Amino acid sequence: MIISMKLHSTPSEIEEVCQRIRDFNYKIHTIEGEERVVIAAIGVGDTTACLESLEAMPQVERAVRISAPYKFVSREFKKEKTAIRVNGCEVGGSEFVVMAGPCSVENEKQIMESAYAVAEAGAKVLRGGAFKPRTSPYDFQGMEVDGLKLLRKAKEATGLAIVTEVMSDRDVELVAEYADILQIGARNMQNFALLKRLGAAGKPVMLKRGLSSTIKELLMSAEYIVAHGNKDVMLCERGIRTFETITRNTCDIVAVPVLQELTHLPVVLDPSHATGKRNLVPALSRAAVAIGADALIVETHPCPEKAISDGAQSLHLPTFRQMMSDLVPYLELWKQSRLAETPVAV
Ligand code: PEP
Ligand code: MN
Repeated sequence: MIISMKLHSTPSEIEEVCQRIRDFNYKIHTIEGEERVVIAAIGVGDTTACLESLEAMPQVERAVRISAPYKFVSREFKKEKTAIRVNGCEVGGSEFVVMAGPCSVENEKQIMESAYAVAEAGAKVLRGGAFKPRTSPYDFQGMEVDGLKLLRKAKEATGLAIVTEVMSDRDVELVAEYADILQIGARNMQNFALLKRLGAAGKPVMLKRGLSSTIKELLMSAEYIVAHGNKDVMLCERGIRTFETITRNTCDIVAVPVLQELTHLPVVLDPSHATGKRNLVPALSRAAVAIGADALIVETHPCPEKAISDGAQSLHLPTFRQMMSDLVPYLELWKQSRLAETPVAV
């Protein structure tokens, strides 16, 4: 933190500020300029509380944070990217990972058909919601435990890993029994009881950006999970709310390189919820690869016209297969640039 004193502060006023900083367990470096004294506070502590307390002192002109408020997830804390092992593949490593499947698990035939098709097209992870966060209480809320059991069956049949949403801190243990990746939906990005509980979940987490959340808020939510004991967190850009109405959300595509710069955690892009329209999904998927995301999560359905949720943005399975083969040249370039980034061990 840097604390800038008001002009003509007296030595006792300056000492009062220094003492307040020490009370928060920070060390002090004082810089005495011609007109004004500036104090640098160094160390690890409750920066937010300290800043608030200093800003309330009349002799303080400004108190600003100089390092990121999120520590464990920042690149300052860890330079190398985090690669998360999931059932034989790695998210954030040297392979681009595609997760795909329906919005919701609806029945056995639907999930098995989806699983076989996405595995054959090259996906490594099967998505499917068993607990669904729906805007209307009258909409389908998910198959719950029966849905989790069907996901397990699909995993056993295809070898795909499973990503599925957990909506409540009470369900973390249950969902973690079936899931390889616990998805935290946009609406729950700041459900702090849930985030804390994920610390001990023992499974990787995919944290989706909230509908109206800033990148910093996303990182702070990830910090909750890591600070509570779970290092394996991936972040997902899934579009944010803006004044635009043609697409369901507005994809903040630049969030991908911004996150790659600010954090070592893997970055996933969800082109389905970001657009709400299946015809836009292949273009946005290519953009995600080109801009350096680590993974994609895409909604597909054997018959999107009959899907219980998110049919309009779900790809037909043949279109998904086509999209995967169209991505190949982009993935080759992705791999080259990823290898160029990876420091060679000597
Ligand atoms: C989903 O993945 O189906 C979903 C509900 O996503 P989000 O939380 O991003 O809206
Ligand atoms: Mn969905």
